[in-house]
Amino acid sequence: MAMYIVLLGPPGVGKGTQAKILAQKTGLPHVSSGDLFREHLKNQTDLGRLAQSYMSKGELVPDDVTIAMVRDRLSRPDCESGAILDGFPRTPVQAEALEKMLAEFSAQVDVVPYISAPDEVLVERLSGRRTCRAQGHVFHVRYNPPAKEGVCDYDGSELYQREDDREETVRRRIQVYREQTAPLVSYYREQGKLVEINGAQPIEQVTQDLLRALEQVETS
Ligand code: AMP
Repeated sequence: MAMYIVLLGPPGVGKGTQAKILAQKTGLPHVSSGDLFREHLKNQTDLGRLAQSYMSKGELVPDDVTIAMVRDRLSRPDCESGAILDGFPRTPVQAEALEKMLAEFSAQVDVVPYISAPDEVLVERLSGRRTCRAQGHVFHVRYNPPAKEGVCDYDGSELYQREDDREETVRRRIQVYREQTAPLVSYYREQGKLVEINGAQPIEQVTQDLLRALEQVETS
């Protein structure tokens, strides 16, 4: 399947979880700007340190460095026939940069599933979320618990709570989403690419709805 998919939606709605499932089902790479920043942080790069100063407060990392990082990732051969973008674009400037980047590869954003859920659901999901140190697999203490507490089912690494998943930061992230990222909903709706998905449903149901949305793009 050759396709560039942008998963749009507030923090905690399940973009990362669904992106990982879709990556397995479609063979497309999962490109998460948040994971890329966390990787830089783990490797103690200058970009990692810069990103951390924004991430820990729930603010967005500046567009120029974010765009350069994603451009670099999308230029790798595994993204040649598409990618599942999670957490990027997050501002109108990033959306325009993505369009230009893909045009360079004679490609475009094919579909934008917009996953949404009420704020209470987001806060509960984020504050109960646990993330795997090695590869960023995500679990939830109540809704998606690992087989063994504190241990990733997939690679056995430690599960931890992201600093920005603490409640105070979670509220700021949702506010930042409303101010800076929500305008992308109408941007992609006007382009006829938006497909609305109810993210308050169980994981399997959301996946079904997403797969149906992708099939429609393939056959259209
Ligand atoms: P996420 O893992 O998608 O929740 O992202 C975690 C944090 O990384 C965000 O709160 C931002 O500080 C930063 N970040 C991730 N993606 C972007 C982006 N596209 N633009 C700016 N900052 C980002």
